Amino acid sequence: MTAGKAYDCIIIGAGPGGLQAAIHLARYNRRVLLVDRGGGRTSHALEIENYLGLERVGGKELVETGIRQIQSFGAEFRREQGFTVVTDRARYQASYVVVSAGATEKPPPIKGMNRFFGRTIFTCVDCDGYRTTGRNLVILGDSLETVRLALAMRQMFTPEITLVLPPALRLPPDQAELLNEDGIAFLTGIPAEFLGDPELTGVRLQDGRQAACEVVMLNYDYVLNDAFLAGLGLERDSGGGKLATDHFCETSVKNLFALGALKSGKAQAIIAAGQGAAVGIEINRRLLEL
Ligand SMILES: Cc1cc2nc3c(=O)[nH]c(=O)nc-3n(C[C@H](O)[C@H](O)[C@H](O)COP(=O)(O)OP(=O)(O)OC[C@H]3O[C@@H](n4cnc5c(N)ncnc54)[C@H](O)[C@@H]3O)c2cc1C
Repeated sequence: MTAGKAYDCIIIGAGPGGLQAAIHLARYNRRVLLVDRGGGRTSHALEIENYLGLERVGGKELVETGIRQIQSFGAEFRREQGFTVVTDRARYQASYVVVSAGATEKPPPIKGMNRFFGRTIFTCVDCDGYRTTGRNLVILGDSLETVRLALAMRQMFTPEITLVLPPALRLPPDQAELLNEDGIAFLTGIPAEFLGDPELTGVRLQDGRQAACEVVMLNYDYVLNDAFLAGLGLERDSGGGKLATDHFCETSVKNLFALGALKSGKAQAIIAAGQGAAVGIEINRRLLEL
């Protein structure tokens, strides 16, 4: 392992949050290193339509443009795995660290998922709920929270909904009644395969039954990409999951900032980017030593 250069700030994660922080800091002529392992939620977003100033932009395109943009202002970019402040190739020094490593969806293994994920299979109502408008929708989940999701989707987007929950989950009668009142079909079963080629046409359950659909909304857990922070004992929010931060996005470790999906609050590309801008400005203010 080589001893690396010193930076004013090291940023982990090239999503909108990390990239926007890098743009701001590099445009204060600060020495910035952005480390990223590739992939990430934004890269999975086929088309983002709710980002101010960009009518429609591919997630990959947003990230790749951002990387070119930070490099044009002199920030360095490295694709590296296994960052811990020390990466697998070198040890870097910085006065500030910004972590914007995001989260990863953890749906159960269902055959055919990759063919449709981000195109007609969605995970985020705020991002892609709109794309289900007026379409035949199947909602898959593993918690009773999914009933609320189905009722909300019915209000906002489409009357044609089938909700599928695992047999082990007992649906309380009052919730069954609500689904019934809203005309939402309800099945218990384990999803085994997404059907259709090239377009999604349905979901096959393990027992062979099929639910026809054009679009799917998944409601499963996700994991934070924060394993490399484990040794720091960072405070978590009251839900016990996401990183607790103050209004500067600073974690319980001084000069360590967290953005985007890692920290408590809503996870949206434009929110992460706004946090990145605010953190960039704040770190520069601290560096100014005036
Ligand atoms: C299918 C899909 C569609 C979406 N559509 C929209 C939409 O239309 N509008 C919207 O606002 N939001 C959308 N989102 C959500 C949005 O992408 C995220 O909420 C937002 O981008 C969060 O940004 P972030 O910077 O926190 O993380 P991300 O964009 O997830 O970026 C994190 C980066 O950190 C890197 N990383 C992780 N761990 C490490 C590590 N240990 N070392 C180095 N690098 C690491 C990852 O490789 C990745 O590049 C969508 C998400 C998905 C999955």
